[in-house]
Amino acid sequence: MATEVVSAYDLDALSADFENRHALEIIQWAVDEFGDDLALSSSFGADSAVMLHLATRVKPDIKVITLDTGFLFPETVRWRDELARQLGLNLCIYRPALSAEEFVAEHGKMWRSSPDSCCAFNKREPFNRAKKELGIKCWLTGIRREQSITRRTAAIAQRDNLGLMKLCPIARWTAKDVHYYLLENGLPYHPLREQGFLSIGCCPEEGYCTSKVKPGEDPRSGRWAGFDKTECGLHVHDQGSGI
Ligand code: SF4
Repeated sequence: MATEVVSAYDLDALSADFENRHALEIIQWAVDEFGDDLALSSSFGADSAVMLHLATRVKPDIKVITLDTGFLFPETVRWRDELARQLGLNLCIYRPALSAEEFVAEHGKMWRSSPDSCCAFNKREPFNRAKKELGIKCWLTGIRREQSITRRTAAIAQRDNLGLMKLCPIARWTAKDVHYYLLENGLPYHPLREQGFLSIGCCPEEGYCTSKVKPGEDPRSGRWAGFDKTECGLHVHDQGSGI
């Protein structure tokens, strides 16, 4: 796998150019540039159907990297498999080195005491492994500036922690844009969204990692409620992250 993919690009210029382009044009650029070395990262969260649909419109066989930490809601797993059938997704499911049971036996309920370490083991390691094993040079993600304070300044073209390119084609989209795209294309939200879960990740036990969001709060405020933590680490990079 090539290292420091982004050193061949002017990320600021790319980001500036992409600000005026539709998400489909940005994805098309990435497909032309990286071909099969391009992937989409998806959490199969509240509105993940948008990026899954956009990306597969441009490249139907795009690799879709998703993590199964062993702590997901059962609804997420069912919804992932249903969407995969509906959209014919090329799913690449990666798991941590230990099963959920083995992890708890060895480390206890780490999400209570050290969620950063828990995410490092259960999310960041398998995600980095996925990118390396699949030979990824560029990956797409559906993060949007509106989702939280930490994402408000996200650049569309970024460098990730491995020196690969990370693109956020719908960074500028609002919740309304998302809603109308889903409506126009007959796509569903995550089934738990209607219960007030606006951002959906792990649920190792009630009250931890994913909670319901009150009206008017940031969609991601229900993640790691009670902790000074807003990201699992997949979107926090050493430099050039724009976050
Ligand atoms: S979201 Fe929670 S359970 Fe999942 S890896 Fe992070 S801390 Fe652990």
